[in-house]
Amino acid sequence: MDFDFHPPKKAVSSHRRSTPSIRIWLLLVLVTLLFVPLFLRHSVTSTEANMAAPEVPQPPPIPEIRKEIIKGTVAQGDTMTALLGEFFTAAEIHELNRQCKPIFPLTRLSAGQAYRLCLSDDVFERFEYDIDRNEQLIISRDAENFSIEKIPIPYTTKTVRVSGIIESSLFEAVTSTGESDVLAMNLADIFAWDIDFILDIRKGDSFQVLVEKRYREGQPAGYGRILAAEFTNQGASFQAILYQDGDHRPDYYDADGQSLRKAFLKAPLAFSRISSGFTTRRFHPITKTWKSHPAIDYAASTGTPIKSVGDGVIIKKGYTRANGNYIKIRHNSSYETIYLHMNGFAKKIANGKRVAQGQTIGYVGSTGLATGPHLCFRMKKNGAPVNPTRVKAPAVKPVSSANMADFKSKATTLIAQLTDQKTIKTASAKSAINNSSK
Ligand SMILES: [Zn+2]
Repeated sequence: MDFDFHPPKKAVSSHRRSTPSIRIWLLLVLVTLLFVPLFLRHSVTSTEANMAAPEVPQPPPIPEIRKEIIKGTVAQGDTMTALLGEFFTAAEIHELNRQCKPIFPLTRLSAGQAYRLCLSDDVFERFEYDIDRNEQLIISRDAENFSIEKIPIPYTTKTVRVSGIIESSLFEAVTSTGESDVLAMNLADIFAWDIDFILDIRKGDSFQVLVEKRYREGQPAGYGRILAAEFTNQGASFQAILYQDGDHRPDYYDADGQSLRKAFLKAPLAFSRISSGFTTRRFHPITKTWKSHPAIDYAASTGTPIKSVGDGVIIKKGYTRANGNYIKIRHNSSYETIYLHMNGFAKKIANGKRVAQGQTIGYVGSTGLATGPHLCFRMKKNGAPVNPTRVKAPAVKPVSSANMADFKSKATTLIAQLTDQKTIKTASAKSAINNSSK
């Protein structure tokens, strides 16, 4: 029988295995002899190289966990179910919504915000959502529990000095240095109370600014705070130093510690009552239609003097069928106020005339579409209606005497950095959310 001539299969295979295993062993020893000195020469601290000696048996390879990060942007109408529905049951999503509520309600997810979904072998591990430029929501899950937290977005920041001379506008001057117009807007905001960036700007005006640039995972991520700035307008210099006075919110002060932010008058007149508040929707008693009322109506008797709530320039004195006699004042490059239904104008009030805070510009009446004597008062910031009662924050106080010495020493350092042509300070620091400028 042929069978008997075949050696047992076990014997054959073990024999065949033994020869290559010796060869592999020898090869490993050879490789080790060749490479270990290389590793040692390459890096003295590389202990892993020594550990790789063949005497130590290699542990069985750990099955590789497939990590995946999906980056996306929240789309219009996206809910948690839309975003994470494939990983969780409806009950789990419900539970997630409940747990998120006190930290960041998931109903506030907004379109256009970035998120990152981290998966581990296709299983949910972590969800990161950018709430705004400063904070992110982190949802992670271990075993059965969600862990939810709101943390500052980790940025590294670098402080740079940017300077320029105006040819035509601040925007042009800033963008010609290679910076974004966002920096121009932020700069104009800081000096908005002293300089009208539309009317006051002249060729040859100049600026210098110390601004933080943010980086996220090595990529540029916009501007952080403006730490200090100087603007020279028609020969007059204005300085701004960012400072946090005790537990107040950080604000801008001049070199003497006076606040740059000035308040509007609380109201443009002595009024008896507010007859209609600021709303985006109201029933108009005369036109009998629903329309927004982005204004405050002050009921007052005919002839009550109306005052400009701030320094400014009259950009419109006129009459329309709806507004009656009205005046529009530009206070700075951001703010305008409008006064409607006047009985008449004050003397010397004309287009292009400068007015001071508290100056009488006209008198209460009921011209135009008005049911009775009142002042309809409107305020716009950058062209959009804003609620004047919200804007009229009290003037920021000067730096407190307790912190004045600290302020002065910080201001001196910042102004030196600001004005030193050579200085381009580069510092790296984690930004904190509570002191970022918006
Ligand atoms: Zn009104």
